[in-house]
Amino acid sequence: MRIRLWGVRGSLATPMSSAQVRDKARSLLSEATPADLSSAASIEAYLDRSPHSWTYGGNTSCVEVAFDDALFVLDAGTGLRLLGRELAADGRATDIPIHFFFTHFHWDHIVGFPFFAPVLFIPGRKLDIWSGRSDAERLLQTQMSDAHFPYKWEMLKSSITCHQLPEQEPTAVAGAEVRIMPLIHPDKAYGYRISRGGRTVCYLTDTEVSKNPNKVAQQYADFVAGADVVIVDAMYGFLEYHDRINFGHSTIFNFIDFFKDSDIGELVIFHHDPTANDPAVTKLRNDARRYMELVAPGAKWKLSAAFEGQSWDLPDR
Ligand SMILES: [Zn+2]
Ligand SMILES: [Zn+2]
Repeated sequence: MRIRLWGVRGSLATPMSSAQVRDKARSLLSEATPADLSSAASIEAYLDRSPHSWTYGGNTSCVEVAFDDALFVLDAGTGLRLLGRELAADGRATDIPIHFFFTHFHWDHIVGFPFFAPVLFIPGRKLDIWSGRSDAERLLQTQMSDAHFPYKWEMLKSSITCHQLPEQEPTAVAGAEVRIMPLIHPDKAYGYRISRGGRTVCYLTDTEVSKNPNKVAQQYADFVAGADVVIVDAMYGFLEYHDRINFGHSTIFNFIDFFKDSDIGELVIFHHDPTANDPAVTKLRNDARRYMELVAPGAKWKLSAAFEGQSWDLPDR
């Protein structure tokens, strides 16, 4: 199982502003030594180690889970456009079976779908879409209908089949076991647990566990048990959450409580707030790590904040 993040932002795509680019340039220039800038190689080495030379990214939710003989795509936020380009470049656009899994159908999780052109316009190209709902096709159609998009669903050349996943039992898809769990979010959302080759990824966005955490703690801990990577909606810091109750999103601190005794590999802060710039996301991650040291000193798992291009290569076992 190979996992790669193509979009990690919540709610709305968030391009960097000129002021933010300038902040990074200022930090890079002021912290560089003459030796750092003495050759092309030393500049590359300096950029590799500087915390100012990169960004978490502004694209909305899209996660690639790849196997040698199948490709799973979790949500179709704006990050999907870049994944589509990658598939066209590496040849997978034409031949590998592709399965989409949607958590829900809010704009930030579907708006990239019509831009998956390298696949959508291949005549007869088979594409499977899975979700916890029975009306996925209608919902995806709607965003391309009427005056919303120039190409309509009916004009797509690929052959798309939508399937509803049951809540009660796992479903076998392309050699993987797929489980869903209802999340706490307006308009119904589902979290995923996908296992294959002895590896498991859990994808739990968008969900508001923070309003009544004790009620769902055990359910979430059970759902992620033994997972290698657990990606969670941790959009807000502790104080921000209290201004945004009932928005359908969580703080990372609840998930640290839930999973403190779990045998997971890594917990990933995901669905970053559009108002959070890079330093704010880093601060949230650092606060979360400090909290983890306090409440879960024995925890063996890692904690990270999702960034575009973040990846895990998990060989079968
Ligand atoms: Zn969202
Ligand atoms: Zn949502």
